[in-house]
Amino acid sequence: MDWPDFGILARAMNSLSLESSLRSIKGIGPQLSKLLEKKGLSSLEDALYFLPRTYEDRTRITPIAKIALNSQATVLASVLKVRPIYLGRGASRLTVSVKDETGQMDLVWFRATPYLQKDFSVGDRFLLYGQVQHYRGMLQMVHPEYEKVVAGEGEKPKTSANFGRIVPIYSETEGLFQKTIRRLMGEVLKASLPLVEESLPDSLRERHHLPKLRESFQGVHFPANLNDATQSAWVKRIIFEEFFVLHLGLLLNKRRQQTCRTKAFVDTGILQKFKEQLPFSFTEDQSEALKAIASDLASPRPMARLLQGDVGSGKTVVALAAASVVLSAGSQVALMVPTEVLAQQHFLTAKRWVEPLGFSVGLVTQSSREGSESQLLIGTQALFQKKIKLPNLGFVIVDEQHRFGVEQRRALLEKSSKPVHLLMMTATPIPRTLSLTLFGDLDLTQIASKPLHRQPIQTRILLERDRPRLYQKIRSAIQQGQQVYVIYPLIEESEKLELKSATQMFEKLQKEIFPEFKLRLLHGRMKPSEKSEILAAFHRNEFPLLVSTTVIEVGIDVPNATLMIIEHPERLGLSQMHQLRGRVGRGKLSSECILVASGPVTERLRVMERTDNGFEIADEDLRIRGPGQFLGTQQHGLPGFRVGHIVRDASLLEIARQEAEGLLKEDPNLEASENLKIKKLVEGFWGNKIERLNRG
Ligand code: ADP
Ligand code: MG
Repeated sequence: MDWPDFGILARAMNSLSLESSLRSIKGIGPQLSKLLEKKGLSSLEDALYFLPRTYEDRTRITPIAKIALNSQATVLASVLKVRPIYLGRGASRLTVSVKDETGQMDLVWFRATPYLQKDFSVGDRFLLYGQVQHYRGMLQMVHPEYEKVVAGEGEKPKTSANFGRIVPIYSETEGLFQKTIRRLMGEVLKASLPLVEESLPDSLRERHHLPKLRESFQGVHFPANLNDATQSAWVKRIIFEEFFVLHLGLLLNKRRQQTCRTKAFVDTGILQKFKEQLPFSFTEDQSEALKAIASDLASPRPMARLLQGDVGSGKTVVALAAASVVLSAGSQVALMVPTEVLAQQHFLTAKRWVEPLGFSVGLVTQSSREGSESQLLIGTQALFQKKIKLPNLGFVIVDEQHRFGVEQRRALLEKSSKPVHLLMMTATPIPRTLSLTLFGDLDLTQIASKPLHRQPIQTRILLERDRPRLYQKIRSAIQQGQQVYVIYPLIEESEKLELKSATQMFEKLQKEIFPEFKLRLLHGRMKPSEKSEILAAFHRNEFPLLVSTTVIEVGIDVPNATLMIIEHPERLGLSQMHQLRGRVGRGKLSSECILVASGPVTERLRVMERTDNGFEIADEDLRIRGPGQFLGTQQHGLPGFRVGHIVRDASLLEIARQEAEGLLKEDPNLEASENLKIKKLVEGFWGNKIERLNRG
């Protein structure tokens, strides 16, 4: 179908654009637009990207006599009789009998409004669509879609948005019927397709067999026929652009950072001193990582690097070594972590290994301002409050913040008046597609191996009925002088209730099961000072069993702990569980992690038993839970795609990345005329960053 070129006219008359409100569409008033907004649809563009969930083929009209029972059919028939039945208390049912040359059937609506029957008069012809069933010897279509046919007897009815074509089915909103949405989408497309400009260079489109954007939107919403191949090409085209814009933005961002200048820090022997005091030597991977980081520091281009390594792979030491290079040049270093407990722990580590080299170390959290003028400042987000002065900041390290996406990083770096070196560290293995999306503007270093002495962790699933055996295991570990974690995950929504049951379990364990041992409870609602005190005491082996919520997820290091019990493992993400179990196996003894399944054992839990490979687990987790959940729902800094899905469309994401790199190589500032449109999109997505780049 050809759309009349209303757009030019509309643009001239009231300068319609894709950002225009849906209110500018004929037939969308305040009420309807409110319903649409519930679906996140407020502009023309929003509606364009609201793709059909599926399609129905209504190109063929089936004679009533030829309808296959229980199948969907399109029927052309005229009204014989209209029978409303009032059932009392405002309830009513409407039956409309219709016939064509071959037979007769009933249309039935339960809970019909009085308005409905007004649509039907004897003799009128209708196109009908719905599922056909047998009911008391009669063919019946319940709640059919219907449309009055205006053409005269014997004439072929005209194609409409609802009949005589492949009809799109959108996901519904309460109070919005398919017919309404479809009619709207027809209007939206009429108005907005002429405004859609092609953004991809021809050569690129041809390379990947991508149709033009306008054609794709039209095809996706109102396809002329159903062909899976063309269908998927249209969708692919739309997704490609989303990914492409993101990656161009990330790469330009990266380049922008690289055109900035900051202070260079060259090692003048401090690294040697740092290493000499350690009770161990670096693994090869640690050395490699340190080399990459040190060489970044030695350049005036600000570092933007992600250091990835499984729990216990020794990232912290590497980061502190790198920090000492900056400290020895008289500049400040900030090490930011997500929790107070972790800050406390890093603070102690730094006191052990950084202070002896002659640098002051401070701790800045909600509850502590210890040495806030120090050279090395360790803390939570509180570090970047206004009160804290970092006049001489040269290096920022962000630990265990895999939720720290591009936007959060930008906000962080903008707190510093000048560009600084940035090192991100994460223990959460992040599947490549996700890290491309979140950290596509960073250089990547991995620590794949673990320090030699690290013991593999045996993971096993036990059932409720195995509890006696479980308690025996705990007892014997403690009797051998080892320490035990019992993790009780809380469900966010019902945290208060859950905390109560965690507390109850703690009391039961203490009073009934292990009265001979000292147990302590740790949870997120405690004061930070109390949490640190408990962890410090556990670290000093002052008590053998710690019952904890998942607050100990990140970075806590107690080498004497060899057994971890996880209650309600089904409440946790796989990656999160993997992080948790990394709290054991940190010493010389072999360690074990036990998942106490509260229901049937799922395939998902078996993954934990099967593999200790964080990346494999992360992939599985991402596949099962999707990116939002994987990262923790809030503030994960993942850019929102309207259609694209980084797991389902992973290979397209890779292609978009490569093409973005290629395009920027050819046209670094996107100045060629065929690239102007995409440049505009990237600017829109990222604010005016490119402009700054052109000036800088
Ligand atoms: P991560 O931050 O990657 O989880 P950490 O830096 O906290 O790991 O290191 C975990 C533990 O291993 C710490 O107790 C640390 O002192 C120790 N460690 C780090 N590197 C080595 C190494 N090369 N050899 C032995 N132990 C190490
Ligand atoms: Mg760490």
